[in-house]
Amino acid sequence: MHITLLFCFGIGFIPVNDNIIADMRLIILLIAALPLAIIQYSDETLASELGISESIGSYTSGCIRNSATLSIDGDGYQVIRLGRGRYYGNPETITYIESLSKKVKKELNGTLLIADISQQTGGPILDDHSSHQIGLDADILFWQHPIARNRTLTITEREHIHPQSVLTFDEMRIDEFKWSPIHGEIIKLAASDTRVDRIFINPVIKRRLCRVYPGELWLGKTRPWYGHDGHFHVRLRCPEENSLCESQKPIEISGDGCGGDLDSWFRADGSIKRKRKSVPSTQKRLPKECKPIMYPLGEY
Ligand SMILES: [Zn+2]
Repeated sequence: MHITLLFCFGIGFIPVNDNIIADMRLIILLIAALPLAIIQYSDETLASELGISESIGSYTSGCIRNSATLSIDGDGYQVIRLGRGRYYGNPETITYIESLSKKVKKELNGTLLIADISQQTGGPILDDHSSHQIGLDADILFWQHPIARNRTLTITEREHIHPQSVLTFDEMRIDEFKWSPIHGEIIKLAASDTRVDRIFINPVIKRRLCRVYPGELWLGKTRPWYGHDGHFHVRLRCPEENSLCESQKPIEISGDGCGGDLDSWFRADGSIKRKRKSVPSTQKRLPKECKPIMYPLGEY
């Protein structure tokens, strides 16, 4: 509305008889009005009214203004566990998932099962995530569901799908009956996209990828982490225009990350070292801009 008023104001100076000079004046007036319009755009309320999406804060403490919604079915993917309501994200994440799924279907004849992205307003998820707060994290299952490749799953079927680990029972090796080369190829496609900052996978899976794809630079984006043996977790960079989005520190290793960095995750017997305690995300302070987004009625 603010912009319309500015433009109307400018047009008021144009003489009644149209000619080239009048057109030029109009263009000059519109250009002159633009900086004012941009100032208005930076206003939080107006951004909200205009539906501009924005990730605010960090991956472990933040929210999303005007999140985008991932359709529950798409070309090469289906969203699972819809009852959790975690299929919202930054528009960049939504287009990333759509383009990755298309490639997986076309190049690998696969189908992705998409689990959690973020809640509609982002913010802390109280059960099993410390991140997923700003719509730039997405969990994608390794499992190539045999039925999902041929038809759309029902809502009930999707509700009961859980990630299936690709590791052996002792979690020390890849279970060759559950692992397939397509899993490595999917991670390669996922990590090769420039929008991706890093992908979390179990150290045992990273060790397998290091054997199959030694020296490939995309491997450097795959980061060993606890769990992540039934799904991989993609984290996108902050989109440039999201000025309140806090990027994570760059990955410190160079190359494929297959040397000492990966070895440091394992004990001598091949098991993964114990997890260090971290601060629960609910105890971290949310950015002040999140308050009206997450609690529009005032409760906080
Ligand atoms: Zn995750």
